[in-house]
Amino acid sequence: MGVSPISGVPDTPFFMIFTDLDGTLMDYATYGWKEAIPALDMCKKHEVPVVFASSKTRAEMDLLRRRMSLSDPFISENGGGIFFPRETFKAPPPQAIAAPAQEGQKAQRGKGHWQWSLGLPYADLIKGLQGLRDELGWHIRGFSDMGIEEISCLTGLDKESARLATMREFDEPFVILDQQKTDKDALSEAAAKRGLRVISGGRFYHLKGKNDKGEAMEKLISWYRGFHGNILSIGLGDSPNDFPMLERADFPVLVRSRQEFPGMKEKIPRLRITRDMGPEGWNSAVLEILGGRDEERSND
Ligand SMILES: [Mg+2]
Repeated sequence: MGVSPISGVPDTPFFMIFTDLDGTLMDYATYGWKEAIPALDMCKKHEVPVVFASSKTRAEMDLLRRRMSLSDPFISENGGGIFFPRETFKAPPPQAIAAPAQEGQKAQRGKGHWQWSLGLPYADLIKGLQGLRDELGWHIRGFSDMGIEEISCLTGLDKESARLATMREFDEPFVILDQQKTDKDALSEAAAKRGLRVISGGRFYHLKGKNDKGEAMEKLISWYRGFHGNILSIGLGDSPNDFPMLERADFPVLVRSRQEFPGMKEKIPRLRITRDMGPEGWNSAVLEILGGRDEERSND
């Protein structure tokens, strides 16, 4: 590996993956990821960080990264926070602080996270959601109004996973029950008046601050650049809340879903659209991109 004479950091590109979870790395309905194991193994072998960037909470994402044997940072709740496992990162970015412990985390003492907050506090979002209800008069139901049982029914998550999904810090998922009243412009305007934004994920609308997955991705890349020089990013997602990430990625990948997004290819000309849905599509796209990198090197 070459080293830049100026900065002392390597000048060969360092690959990083930024990926959505539901409907992208994980199956939309079953939440399984076994079809993506060959590509995940390739990432581990080549030390390519696999950074989750999802609407999920810190608690959900930490469990999943452990189950997938990953030690990389992750971006929670639509770019609300970047978390660095303390076991891996002894010196986090200066903006990060020790993350406050969450319920049920006592057993993980010393194994917590560094937290770089980019989003608004959850209490502000709940207040904001009430404001949207009052202004629009729609029947809006947020996670904060639901019990674990109801969230489990809506998402297909088991009770324990649904409980982790309620441990929210930076993003409030919600549904509009009187769908005929859904005027997206009115919704966005009412949110903007309160300094908030509404975006669409795979299952829910999300109320949050001005943060997004793309902004968090950019901040993390800047930090990694200090150690690794030239970074090449692979961004993978399946929903509009992933688009800011795909727009910024060197290798943007839209993982096929039941939804169609006409005009995406014109907007992001280098976009790849997978043939398969979910983890199968994820697997082939990552193997293709990282495999291409190996071929380029062996042809040097
Ligand atoms: Mg998704």
